[in-house]
Order: sequence, then C-alpha cells, then structure tokens
Amino acid sequence: PVYVAHPERYQRTPYARCGKSGLRLPRLSLGLWQNFGGVDSLANAGAMLRKAFDLGINHFDLANNYGPPFGSAETTFGQIFKRDFQGYRDELIVSSKAGYDMWPGPYGIGGSRKYLVASCDQSLKRTGLEYFDIFYSHCMDPETPLEETMQALDYIVRSGRALYAGISNYSAGKTREAAAILKSLGTPLLIHQPRYNLFDRWIEGGLTDVLQEEGVGAIVFSPLAQGLLTDKYLKGIPENSRAARQEQIYLGNKDITPEKLAKVAALNDVAQSRQQTLAQMSLAWVLNHPAVTSSVIGASRVAQIEDSVKALDNLKFSTEELQTIEKILAG
Ligand code: NDP
Repeated sequence: PVYVAHPERYQRTPYARCGKSGLRLPRLSLGLWQNFGGVDSLANAGAMLRKAFDLGINHFDLANNYGPPFGSAETTFGQIFKRDFQGYRDELIVSSKAGYDMWPGPYGIGGSRKYLVASCDQSLKRTGLEYFDIFYSHCMDPETPLEETMQALDYIVRSGRALYAGISNYSAGKTREAAAILKSLGTPLLIHQPRYNLFDRWIEGGLTDVLQEEGVGAIVFSPLAQGLLTDKYLKGIPENSRAARQEQIYLGNKDITPEKLAKVAALNDVAQSRQQTLAQMSLAWVLNHPAVTSSVIGASRVAQIEDSVKALDNLKFSTEELQTIEKILAG
C-alpha cells in the first residue's frame, strides 16, 4: 500500500529554533543507531519511521556506521525513503555523520578531509538522498588539526552535500574553537549532538554555556540512557530489551547495577506522581534544559514512539520535583 502521511502530523510535536539559526527542529527526533540495521526487521523499521513522521517527528538521525553491519541503517533508511518518503523530502531533516571507525585503513576513521568527504559521499549513495540536511563530525580527532575538520564540513556544505554543519561529542573548549573556525569560513555551526540524560550530566555548565553564547543548538542523544531510564529493567532484564541482545556491546549487565536500579525505582515514583511513565519524565527532563533544542530518541517498536511522544504533554517541572530528582541522583 502507498503510504500517505497523517494529515494532522504537525499538530502533535512542537518545533524549536535550533540555536540562532533559521531552522526549527521537532523537540523529539528519531535516531537509527539501533534496530534499523541489516540484522533487524525492515518492516518494523519502516513502521517506526512512518509512525514517527505521522506524529510530527520529521527529523531522522543517521551515521555512517549505524547497523550492524556498518552502513546498513543508511541502506535501510534509503529503501524506506524510496518507497514511502520521496514525496516528503522537503518536510524531512535527515542527518548523517563521520568520525568513528567505518572502513579499514587510515582514511576510514578520524577527522581528515579525506575521510569526511568520502564518507559523506558513501552515505549519500546508501541513503539515495541528493543531500543531507545536517552533516556532523561525529567526534573530535585530536590528531587532525581542527581547522582541517571544519574546512571539510564547510566544503561539504558548499559543495551541496549538506545544508548545515554539526559536531558531536566535542568538549566545551573544542566546541568554542570549532564554532569560531566555522564562523570565519562562513558556514555557521548549526548544532552540537552530545549525550545527555538524568545519569549523564556532563554538558551542564561548560558546554551548554558555550552553545547558548554562540547561538548553537543542542540535540541530545540517549535521553533514556539506552532504556535504563524506563521501568523495563526494574524486575530484571526482559528478553526483548537492548540489554538482552547478543550483539549488543553498549548496554549490558555491568550497566544495570543495584545502585542504578534503586535510583531508577525512586525516579519511577516521581514520574508516577506526575502521571507520566519514567520514559516520558526522562524525556521531559532533558527537554526542560533551556539549551536543548531536541532530543534524539531510539526505539525498537512503534509503541515506544507513541509512548515517548506523550512526554510532550507535560514538560514542566516544579521546583520541588526538580529538587526531589536531584536528591535521588545524589543519593
Ligand atoms: P535512548 O536513550 O532513547 O534509548 C532507546 C532505547 O530505549 C530503545 O531502543 C528501547 O530499547 C528503549 N525505549 C525507547 N522508548 C521507550 C519507551 N517509551 N518505553 C520503554 N523503553 C523505551 O536512545 P539511544 O541510546 O537509542 O540513542 C538514540 C539516538 O541517539 C541514536 O539512534 C542515535 O541517532 C543517537 N546517538 C548518537 C550518538 C553520537 O555519538 N552522536 C551515540 C549514541 C546515540 P529496547 O531495545 O530495550 O526496547
């Protein structure tokens, strides 16, 4: 059947200006790091992308090595895009990245112009897109001059491969330098993509101050700490969860400690008192930070996207709630 997007898709998800740019992004975006690979169900991947778009989540976040195997999330996206989304290209924001390990040899990792440009071209081919909306340097490469990496982003934008430039996982200091270089090149830094959630607060203060001063947006990843900040691990590791997956190396037993779970249980009580699931409260909490434009969520099934989007119904926190949360996290 031909996919026709929901006529009321712009009624559900609010949009926020990305820093001082002209671009507005949905407060929730969908990331394809997990569950969109060659090992996953294509039908489920398509259903999740269509459900997200129907709910107004029109920003899809990719990287060259999302899978597994590497590259396959972009291939999956390309197949679904070709069938369902071609008529909606101008309503979509699609991003990709290069920086981490991708192919063998010295030009398949890092921050060189050689790697970034070649990888961007490969990503365009896999997705079948003519351009990305945002292209990121996925991580800072201490062995490449920052000027070279920023010149590569500037070139990627000027050559029409992407509309905007972003960086991910850069420290506050390097972000300030990167923003200055990009400004001097005439391609402003649009956005930074750092990890941020109730358990990982590294961006507070240093990085968020830089972003606000420079007028750069923030899209924060792993808002649920990969699922830990939901109620799913409170009674053990369920079979169909990320931590149970064989090929999963990023979340496992070592991350799900009794100390963590005690905090999760206490946070779950706060969420319930707000008439939210813990997943919803965890999302609302990251979006409550004034520097945060959007949060990029992951999902393994359609129902999670429907559940997570309900976070948008209650984004406000009382001072008391915030203090209770701080106490739990400090304990
Ligand atoms: P999350 O912290 O949102 O974790 C997503 C996982 O949590 C899902 O796969 C699912 O896991 C579970 N989940 C999601 N919604 C719910 C819900 N409503 N109720 C219960 N469980 C839920 O984000 P990710 O860690 O997946 O990262 C999101 C995106 O961020 C990535 O896809 C990627 O685009 C980006 N990212 C960027 C990085 C970077 O370096 N720039 C690094 C990492 C991520 P389950 O399988 O258990 O169902």
